[in-house]
Amino acid sequence: MTEIEQLMRPNILRLTPYSSARSEFKGEASVWLDANESPFNTTYNRYPDPLQSRIKEKIARIKGLSPDSVFLGAGSDEAIDLLFRVFCIPACDNAVAIEPTYGMYEVCANINDVEYRKVPLDEEFDFDPVDLLAVTDDHTKLLFICSPNNPTGNTFDASKIKYLLDNFRGILVIDEAYIDFSSQDSFLKRLPDYPRLVILQTFSKAWGSAGVRLGMAFASSGIIEVFNKVKYPYNINALTQEYALEILEKEECVKEWVDVLLRERLKLETLLQEFPFVTKVYPSDANFLLVRTRDAAALYNYLQDKGIIVRNRNKITLCSGCLRITVGNAEENRILVEALAIYGK
Ligand SMILES: *Cc1c(COP(=O)(O)O)cnc(C)c1O
Repeated sequence: MTEIEQLMRPNILRLTPYSSARSEFKGEASVWLDANESPFNTTYNRYPDPLQSRIKEKIARIKGLSPDSVFLGAGSDEAIDLLFRVFCIPACDNAVAIEPTYGMYEVCANINDVEYRKVPLDEEFDFDPVDLLAVTDDHTKLLFICSPNNPTGNTFDASKIKYLLDNFRGILVIDEAYIDFSSQDSFLKRLPDYPRLVILQTFSKAWGSAGVRLGMAFASSGIIEVFNKVKYPYNINALTQEYALEILEKEECVKEWVDVLLRERLKLETLLQEFPFVTKVYPSDANFLLVRTRDAAALYNYLQDKGIIVRNRNKITLCSGCLRITVGNAEENRILVEALAIYGK
């Protein structure tokens, strides 16, 4: 058994996956009578490519990887759930994560009956990798690092993440949902050196496509193969696959959107700092700002009454008084700042 196989659930390793008509025959043909599809309503009468080969080739080219290290899911959320289902034996194994962080890791752990161990960040929203490892044991299969982190907005020091890669024996998951907005590099380049590394990215943020539900996981081919065995056979529908091929041609456009949002983030950060009821605007490497205020609940309700919805993070560990504000377009940000100016009076 490989090192990766030893980390996987034995029933998953033994699993014979569902073999769909479209995965058994992949060649060229003119008469398709193998999948009980309707001959009417072309082109949506056909089941989509179960492994999304054309999309993965494009993504692989953009990211400088091999297509067999790419997994596509219905949002990164599908990949997060698969990590638990593939690696964690329910009521036996555990997962470790920093706190606060993205809420779906804990929800997926709970759904899968996997113990979830939270390690609070320090006042600077930073972690000590030695402390994180101290919480792990032989049953710790997953360690989640979201960088840039949601909701704190900071990217973690690469050397700390590297320490975890070198010393954690389970699967290290780096969630890079916001990496396109970060001043720091993605860990994608390190993928070939670390077979136990899984990197999550998504079309929901910089790519402006949250509505289509498309997320990516990058890992060694041994992990991706097993993800493909466990996922629903046609997890990415034909409409989404078509759309993905189109948006992947618009990389330049996406870069411009990111540039605009980075300029808007800087403007917004500067303006928010001026308000007397704002006690801190945390530095952000993402498309949102975490803002500490004197009375988060009152401010949240005020903005809501004005039709402006932000995220109240007041009740989250280390985030008392905090609102998380997504950076919008220039117009949206102007409306927000004008509303705040009136609140301040
Ligand atoms: C938004 C977000 C995602 C994206 O989830 P999707 O299911 O791809 O929309 C993943 N991780 C973090 C930390 C996020 O904030």
